[in-house]
Amino acid sequence: MKFDELEIHEISIEYEDKPAEEVIKWAIENFHPKFYVAWSGQAEDMVLIDMAWRINPDIRVFTIDTGRLHEETYKLMEEVENKYGIRIEIFFPEAKDVEDMVKKYGINLFYKSIELRHFCCHVRKVRLLAKALNKVDAWITGLRREQWASRHNIMKIEVDHDHGQIVKINPLADWTEKDVWDYIRKHKVPYNELYRKGYRSIGCAPCTRPVAPFEDTRAGRWWWEKNAPKECGMHCSLETGGFEKIADKLLEGAKDGNSDSGKNL
Ligand code: SF4
Repeated sequence: MKFDELEIHEISIEYEDKPAEEVIKWAIENFHPKFYVAWSGQAEDMVLIDMAWRINPDIRVFTIDTGRLHEETYKLMEEVENKYGIRIEIFFPEAKDVEDMVKKYGINLFYKSIELRHFCCHVRKVRLLAKALNKVDAWITGLRREQWASRHNIMKIEVDHDHGQIVKINPLADWTEKDVWDYIRKHKVPYNELYRKGYRSIGCAPCTRPVAPFEDTRAGRWWWEKNAPKECGMHCSLETGGFEKIADKLLEGAKDGNSDSGKNL
């Protein structure tokens, strides 16, 4: 690794008040090509791609195709590739894991319990993220502090303790939702059609719904759950660390092949 934790901490303080473009420029200069832009079809991701591409058109972008995405997200994926002349690197869940999980707990297991929802996110997303990040020294995300309580303390540059101490860069940490849309309009950046249908945060189709104007932006994610974090475990050590053992156990149980409603979890 190019920097140790103390150095990243010092750089983080230095860059905390700098604009997003400068943070991205620092990241590309220091890590490209072992550097990924994370893309999941959200407006923030489009800002990142546009900014990073203006600095270096050879940027590497990755996404996770959970198999349950909206059609509009696939459409945008193609639009991004055409507009920016890049090929998004797609990571897919292990077919056998999905097969075992669905056989045991059902195709829509996420509605049955919070634990099964986390399990599905783990099989379809979190494991793939670990696989993707194993290939790079740094990654860049569109996380913003105002999105959710679990994101209030993120820094623009930080060490990712959940993924092998690589560097995680959150250039939009201090941006508002308005800042994101101002940038998109100003630079004519393409965006997901779902936003025109009332969505304000985009995830898998069965787990995301449009929200009312007075609702929180992430209220449409796993909307049926009460008192659970609006996180899938990709950005939250609670799930990535603590849930690993439970997920392994559930996967082990899924491999025995018997169907189960999952209601006892
Ligand atoms: Fe599964 Fe829903 Fe998580 Fe997507 S968001 S991985 S469908 S639980």
